[in-house]
Amino acid sequence: MVPRTVYNEDHEQFRETLRKFLENEAVPYHHQWEKDGQIDRKLWNKAGEMGFLCPQVDEKYGGLGLDYGYNSIIDEEVARAGLSGIGWGLHSNIAVPYIINYGTEEQKKKYLPKCISGEMITAIAMSEPGAGSDLQGVRTTAVRKGDHYLLNGSKIFITNGQQADLVIVVAKTDPHEGASGVSLFLVEAASPGFKKGSNLEKIGMKAQDTSELFFDDVRVPVDNLLGGEGQGFIYLMQELPQERLSVAIYAIANAEAALQWTIDYVRDRKAFGKPISAFQNTQFKLAELDSELTALRVFIDRCLELHYKKELDVATAAKAKLLSTDFQCKLLDECVQLHGGYGYMWEYPIARSWADARVARIYAGTNEIMKLIISRDLLRDD
Ligand SMILES: Cc1cc2nc3c(=O)[nH]c(=O)nc-3n(C[C@H](O)[C@H](O)[C@H](O)COP(=O)(O)OP(=O)(O)OC[C@H]3O[C@@H](n4cnc5c(N)ncnc54)[C@H](O)[C@@H]3O)c2cc1C
Repeated sequence: MVPRTVYNEDHEQFRETLRKFLENEAVPYHHQWEKDGQIDRKLWNKAGEMGFLCPQVDEKYGGLGLDYGYNSIIDEEVARAGLSGIGWGLHSNIAVPYIINYGTEEQKKKYLPKCISGEMITAIAMSEPGAGSDLQGVRTTAVRKGDHYLLNGSKIFITNGQQADLVIVVAKTDPHEGASGVSLFLVEAASPGFKKGSNLEKIGMKAQDTSELFFDDVRVPVDNLLGGEGQGFIYLMQELPQERLSVAIYAIANAEAALQWTIDYVRDRKAFGKPISAFQNTQFKLAELDSELTALRVFIDRCLELHYKKELDVATAAKAKLLSTDFQCKLLDECVQLHGGYGYMWEYPIARSWADARVARIYAGTNEIMKLIISRDLLRDD
């Protein structure tokens, strides 16, 4: 085991408190939440009271003003426990940072305290039925009409979509332009004309609510434009490395947990009069997976260190997301195999993680888009 150096004692104490909280408040209920298609809303409020939502937000808005390591520990503990329905990562690490980094003082005062308490759940709506990887092709429009914008269009696959109270919507303020026509808006779910579609049925992450969203002449006050008009694409590019790091951190923590579940299982399960762990195939598979996992853990921790110093570049974040999620899926597949038929049963965490993990190669930019980013960086003319 290579000792980790990214966390200090305070981080680890926070982890202990969070782990106990999740064991008591989430683990016993997650199975039911998978049937419900969403987690209990009250968990958000309880997490808010404990300081588990947006811990990085400045104290003047009610936050704890902590470093990103705390966000990362939250990702790790949720991943380790296989609590894939909990959308705090999307809220704290992906959506709320847009308000922190590009919001006006009024927007911060209005929304951040509620995001921290769990009173407001956030989502970010980029993808559309006709535009996922190619975000410049979004069709949702926001047309300025005096003191408001008129928002029309639809979004798909939006995490926290059913429960969200506040959605950061990517829209074209100039449909004739590509990237420079894109702007971001803070849209309250209670706005007239804003409708949520049904909770989408997925092959994994069954307790995570994922929705279509529809905007029919939604009046968005000019005050709810996030940052500058036409700057949205630049903001997206600036924020995506943190999103990808968050996905990578989740993937590696989940892979570590899955390897441990498998080690426990193969020690216990017997075939041909011996434990499965006595077969050389099992031993070699575990050794190979653990070796790759160790190397990736070191790389992802190094990315986290770079992120602490705001030095994590776009291409390195893409490499972290690509390698960690490809490996997570590979490891889970091998671990399902080592569980035999039980590995295919939903009641086993390995089966659920196998199904949950598949999307990690698709969202936050597909792994093919990660390769595009990395190769562009390699081949660019300086
Ligand atoms: C469970 C879930 C949760 C999600 N949550 C959110 C969310 O909260 N907010 C949000 O906005 N979106 C969300 N998404 C959407 C996700 O980000 C998109 O699905 C993803 O970006 C891919 O877009 P697409 O589905 O349109 O696929 P497409 O862009 O149609 O891609 C299809 C295939 O073509 C490949 N491809 C596309 N372009 C290229 C290229 N130039 N070169 C090589 N290959 C290419 C892709 O890699 C992929 O394999 C979520 C998706 C899922 C499934």
